[in-house]
Amino acid sequence: MKFILRSAFGMILTACAIAPAMSDTVNVYSHRQPYLIEPLLDAFTEKTGIKTKVLYSDKGLAQRLKSEGRNSPADLVLTVDIARLSTYDRMGLLAETSSDVLEANIPAHLRSDDNTWFGLSKRSRIIVTSKERVPLGEIMRVEDLAKPEWNGRVCTRPGSHVYNRALMASLIAHHGEDEAKRWATNLVNNLARKPQGNDRAQVKAIFEGVCDVAIINNYYYGKMKYSDETAQHDWAKAINIVFPNQGEEDRGAHINLSGAGIAKYSKNKEAALRLLEFLSAPDAQSLYAEINFEYPVNPFGEVSDELKSWGAFKEDQLPIETIAKLSKPAQFIINETGW
Ligand code: FE
Repeated sequence: MKFILRSAFGMILTACAIAPAMSDTVNVYSHRQPYLIEPLLDAFTEKTGIKTKVLYSDKGLAQRLKSEGRNSPADLVLTVDIARLSTYDRMGLLAETSSDVLEANIPAHLRSDDNTWFGLSKRSRIIVTSKERVPLGEIMRVEDLAKPEWNGRVCTRPGSHVYNRALMASLIAHHGEDEAKRWATNLVNNLARKPQGNDRAQVKAIFEGVCDVAIINNYYYGKMKYSDETAQHDWAKAINIVFPNQGEEDRGAHINLSGAGIAKYSKNKEAALRLLEFLSAPDAQSLYAEINFEYPVNPFGEVSDELKSWGAFKEDQLPIETIAKLSKPAQFIINETGW
C-alpha cells in the first residue's frame, strides 16, 4: 500500500512540474471505515477536481505516520474519538492550520486550542434502559448510575475503553477527582457483570435480561436498528434511549467527536485544507453525520430525520480539549476502581 501511495505521489510531483498549482491527490489516512467517507470524497473530487486516495486501517496508523516521518505520503488524518485525535497531536504528527473557514464552521470547543485537530461530527454517550423493567424518567443523569437503586443492574464495556475514559474525564472536569472517583467506585459496585464486550453487547445484555441500564454511544442505537443482522433489531427494540443530564440547571449530555487533522509533513497542505474545509461545510456535514447516526459539528449542518426522531437534547459544552487533558487522571481512577 505504501508503495502504491508513493508511486501515486511520484505522479503528483510530475503533474506539479507542469502546473505549479496544488497537487491533484490528497492522501488520507483514515480510521473511519471507507463506506462512511467515500461518498463525501467523491463529492469533493467532483466539486474541486482534486482526487483522494485513502489508506484505511483501524489500528496502527499513528505509529505508521510516525515511522514514515518526513517521507510520509499522508496529507490528512481522519479518526474517531478525542483520545485518538490527541494521540496524533501529542506525537507531533499534525500541522497547525490556520483557516477562517474552519473557525467559522466548527465551534471553538470542538477543535483544538492550537489548531491541529478539528471535530467533524459529534456523538453523545447516552444511557439506555430496559423498556420492560425501567419506567421512563427513572434515570435522568449519568451520576444516577452510581446510586444504590441500580445495584446489580448496570452493564458497561471496560472503563479503559476510550469512550468511557472520555466520560470519566468529563466527570472529573465537572466534579473534581474525589467526587469522580466516588462515582466510579459506586458504578463498579452496581455492575451486573464484569465490564466486557463493546457498546452493542450491553444492549444485547439488556435484551437478555442480564441488566437493566447501560451506557452506549448514541449511533449504536441506529446501527442496531438498521443492522443487516436481524437479531440486533430486537436488541434495539428492547431499550429506551435517555439523553442524560438534561435538567434546566444541568450541563447536558457528554459529547465526543470524530475529527481530522492535516499531517505535519504533508506535501500537499493546501489541497488537504480544502478537503478539511469541504468536510466542515453544511452540506458535507449533514451527510458525514447522517451516514453514522451522528450530529454535525457545524451548527448549519442538518440533523438527519432519524436522529430528529430520537429527540433534541442539550449538549455538554465542555471543551473537548479538556477531556484530552484529563485522560490521565481519568485512566488512573478507572484502574483504581477496577472499572
Ligand atoms: Fe464506536
